[in-house]
Amino acid sequence: MNQYDIVVIGGGAAGIVAAISAKRKNASVLICEKMPQLGKKLLITGAGRCNLSNQKLDASFYNPEVKTLIESVFAKFGKNEIEKFFNGLDLAMHSDKGRIFPRTNQASSVLSILEIELGRLQIPSECNCEIANIQSSADGFILTSKTKKQFGSKKVILAGGGKSYPALGSDGNAYSIAKKFGHKLIEPVPSAVPLLMHDTWCHFLQGQKTTAIVTSVINSTHVRKVAGEVLFTKYGISGTAVLDISDDISVAFHRHKIKNISIEIDFIPFLTKNEFVETLTNRLKKGFPPEKIITGIVSNKFSLPLSFQLKNADVQGIANLLKNKYFRINGTRGWNEAEFTAGGIDTSEVNHRTLESKLQKGFYLAGEILDVNGVRGGYNLAWAWASGFVAGLAQ
Ligand SMILES: Cc1cc2nc3c(=O)[nH]c(=O)nc-3n(C[C@H](O)[C@H](O)[C@H](O)COP(=O)(O)OP(=O)(O)OC[C@H]3O[C@@H](n4cnc5c(N)ncnc54)[C@H](O)[C@@H]3O)c2cc1C
Repeated sequence: MNQYDIVVIGGGAAGIVAAISAKRKNASVLICEKMPQLGKKLLITGAGRCNLSNQKLDASFYNPEVKTLIESVFAKFGKNEIEKFFNGLDLAMHSDKGRIFPRTNQASSVLSILEIELGRLQIPSECNCEIANIQSSADGFILTSKTKKQFGSKKVILAGGGKSYPALGSDGNAYSIAKKFGHKLIEPVPSAVPLLMHDTWCHFLQGQKTTAIVTSVINSTHVRKVAGEVLFTKYGISGTAVLDISDDISVAFHRHKIKNISIEIDFIPFLTKNEFVETLTNRLKKGFPPEKIITGIVSNKFSLPLSFQLKNADVQGIANLLKNKYFRINGTRGWNEAEFTAGGIDTSEVNHRTLESKLQKGFYLAGEILDVNGVRGGYNLAWAWASGFVAGLAQ
């Protein structure tokens, strides 16, 4: 059985950086990765562009429960350190409205640069190696893979990810490794995920993209309001604004079993309701045919769900539907379409300075496996790099 100072379970964003950080401190390191290659999920991030961090990076972009943890980790490895780290690997980067991408706009460049560093530091990896069991031993830990291969290690960094896009490796199996040492799991639910609804508007507007203001409404309380893109689909609704508000909805629906959930959409955010009514009234006065009074304000496709109101020149009805349209939400598209995981291993059980488990000495956790959920915009990868780097300092 080969013996290492540190074995990293999971060769995703957090695991790769954890291994680099540990090796730079002269530890002997091995990465065990379940999939045939490292970093498979990285390749699809940012729609293939990899939004790897953000120029505004602080705890306010994460779930509020983890504020002190985020502050502590970013104090060691925050925005500047992430940029320095990638600059040090010779990755050219650029920023687009604060979001940081590789200059090539290719996620594969980020993975390649990390692989070059793993090679330069001679960090070995075992792919097709799913760790199925972990035991503490006199020297640290014994890890056993599904194929019964064993590895000895003084310390272990668990970076097995959450549950989103399970086909790329992170399918939630890694939670059971943490649970072996008594760690508590905050029920993981899909986050940044399209929403399901049965509404004739989906039928009429399928494929229609527009910009709007979307508000989540849970048990009749308006929770979060986001401006951005909305996309109608066969099954419901997606688009950046919807993904951005999906987190609270998913937690309410899946974790708290709340059924009274809707979203309110303002399709005309550039006019107040009174201004919109006035615009439509003026158009009628100018001689616009009633069925054409929304032409040029929203896509013509909106004439279909509004046909009754248009035919009757019901200006107030049109304004009500386009300014404050409520859609009842019946669920989410689930793990196969969720970008992130909300929930994970309870962060109160790790040392906020080192990410070492408070329940098992020598056992560290990093990345999405922890109950840390950032908003879209590079915050989840920033957390993966930062927590991986800090966990890798384990000595
Ligand atoms: C479509 C999509 C787009 C995204 N875009 C962005 C973006 O642009 N910016 C951003 O900040 N975030 C983005 N994210 C989120 C980001 O990819 C994740 O937050 C990040 O990859 C988490 O890193 P991680 O290393 O913790 O987990 P992962 O990247 O999931 O890596 C975990 C690894 O552990 C392996 N593993 C699991 N269990 C075991 C085991 N038992 N033994 C061995 N190996 C195991 C898995 O195979 C996997 O390779 C996106 C996610 C998706 C799905």
